[in-house]
Amino acid sequence: MGSGSDLIVRLVDVSAKYVTSDRWIVRNVSLEVSKGEMVVLMGPSGCGKSTLLNIIAGLLPGVIPGYVEGEVLVDGINPVKQGYKMLTGKVGMVYQNPEIQIITRSVVEELAMAPENLGLPKEEIMSRVEWALDALGLRGYENKDPQTLSGGEKQLVAIASVLTMKPKLLLLDEPTSMLDHIGTRLVLKAISTLKEEYGLTIIVAEHRVEWAVNVADKIYLMTDGRIVLGGTPKQVFSQWETITKLGIRPPGVTEIAYELIKRGVKLEIPVRLEEFEKTLGEEP
Ligand code: ADP
Ligand code: MG
Repeated sequence: MGSGSDLIVRLVDVSAKYVTSDRWIVRNVSLEVSKGEMVVLMGPSGCGKSTLLNIIAGLLPGVIPGYVEGEVLVDGINPVKQGYKMLTGKVGMVYQNPEIQIITRSVVEELAMAPENLGLPKEEIMSRVEWALDALGLRGYENKDPQTLSGGEKQLVAIASVLTMKPKLLLLDEPTSMLDHIGTRLVLKAISTLKEEYGLTIIVAEHRVEWAVNVADKIYLMTDGRIVLGGTPKQVFSQWETITKLGIRPPGVTEIAYELIKRGVKLEIPVRLEEFEKTLGEEP
């Protein structure tokens, strides 16, 4: 890949399974993610979202024994052929459970840990910590013990502590699935900010569809290891027959449009409330 390329992820016909699998878990997946893009992976539990993220992070087959076929390129590195360690510092991954990701007793220590491990100079570490505190809205939390924070706040700390590596790519694996409503809103808002104000490149597995259609550049829908639909939120949810057949819940406003179309109403399928509102406001 040329150095001028803006492609951060390029998967071509990638299939994968674990050593213990009796079938291919990821099947013939192709996708590209450019610098600054936000991609949301959706699909039912067990469809292969985490496995796909594990491949992109180099964890499969680097850390978790398994087999990966096809072309995997992450920031120009093929972790399958060149080894996952080549991706150190380039890819940051955050998981569902914030409890198991936090190990120190203060927010600042937690954030400083990754750049300390990279052996960076003190000033550089501090500047990264400050940057991450701002990016996640964690000013005022510096000296707090992460254990005293809410689930959502802990997840913000977990994301911030990965960002201090200044990764090219942030992977978030269902970061809100263990949070309550307030924690979910807090974390989703923070992720939106990372994309919109900080221009980070993000792939997130997240099932909250109303959020996804507002923030994603691309949505990929997976079932049974395959990507069945991919594109802009509008492209994906315009395929109402496929969406309905797959049993995927579209945004509420889109679902209403599907129902109206079934009744013979002619309308362009909206994915955001604002679009629908505009149509309603038009003079008959
Ligand atoms: P999702 O994240 O969409 O819920 P996963 O990628 O976690 O899906 O799982 C896809 C399939 O792979 C499931 O059938 C799951 O049981 C299996 N699987 C996940 N992790 C492993 C593993 N470490 N070893 C063997 N099978 C696994
Ligand atoms: Mg998963």
